[in-house]
Amino acid sequence: MSETESIIHDVIILGSGCAGLTAAIYTGRANLKPLVIEGTQPGGQLTTTSEVENFPGFPDGVDGFMLMDGLRKQATRFETTFASDLIESVDLSGSVKVLKSSTKTYQTKSLIVATGASPRLIGIPGEKEMFGGKGVTTCATCDGAFYRDMDVAVIGGGDSACEEALFLTRFCSKVYLVHRRDELRASKIMADRAVNHEKIEMVWNTVPTSIEGDETGNVKSIKTRNTQDNSEGEIPLKGVFIAIGHVPNSKAFEGSLNLDDQGYFIPESGSQVRTNIPGVYVAGDCADHFYRQAITAAGMGCQAAIEAERWLAEQ
Ligand code: NAP
Repeated sequence: MSETESIIHDVIILGSGCAGLTAAIYTGRANLKPLVIEGTQPGGQLTTTSEVENFPGFPDGVDGFMLMDGLRKQATRFETTFASDLIESVDLSGSVKVLKSSTKTYQTKSLIVATGASPRLIGIPGEKEMFGGKGVTTCATCDGAFYRDMDVAVIGGGDSACEEALFLTRFCSKVYLVHRRDELRASKIMADRAVNHEKIEMVWNTVPTSIEGDETGNVKSIKTRNTQDNSEGEIPLKGVFIAIGHVPNSKAFEGSLNLDDQGYFIPESGSQVRTNIPGVYVAGDCADHFYRQAITAAGMGCQAAIEAERWLAEQ
């Protein structure tokens, strides 16, 4: 049975990454006593990043977890409260917006959706079967230390793939960076670091076609296909780190808010954060498939908070 909260909040923020917590700091300072519903990954994607080198104000870089911990403390200072819950469906048709999890119903006058994005999977045999403790993962920071002195592969060619590969060189004997083209998508500084690292072996023009397990059900190799000549290969290894981008977390809003064909929120024209429903705003990676940076997510969180504050004042 779902319990309904008696309170109607001024603002609820879905998500506790850079966008959500920045929105909380701003709405908190505006005395709106925001409730942040944290979802499955409190602190968002940065909590699984090692070092953030490009967040302004940290000349020596900052640990991703520490940055998010700081944002959370700052939001708490301005009377933000947190709920650990996952919203599964919404009714945004009335002046009070209704959000439902499996156990609770929340009500709010305004809503900021900052639900972020989740790692994309490849969809090849063996990937789901060995995901988690058996050798397939999407998080080097979380799982890298389990692969000490072992050979592993990172799949992908963006900044995330390079970052994961470089992080894994701390533990692993060898890191294969498997990319489907012959040029990395990553920024030049990250690409150069990866390509020039002695423990990283580039596997160009290659996609994995399956992940093979040993008799105990743990990863023993990946089978591959060359995208140029279709030749097949196999690389023996113990871990596969998938870093091929993300999918926006917007499923609960299908049919309520405008989404593009990839599931990203489409803001109203003339604004980055306004949606087709007045009083409902979006911020961060769930609404941005272009910049996708911690600092741009924080900026959108700020915009959404100011919009919500002004909209509430007008009502
Ligand atoms: P991304 O930039 O979208 O890169 C995804 C990579 O995966 C691409 O190289 C893509 O290949 C490959 N890929 C996609 N689908 C694939 C498939 N089915 N099979 C094989 N390969 C596939 O994603 P990201 O690396 O997660 O980065 C996301 C954003 O976060 C970017 O804006 C990035 O700059 C930012 N970021 C920044 C930092 C940093 O500054 N330190 C760190 C991490 C992320 P193609 O290149 O052929 O498309």
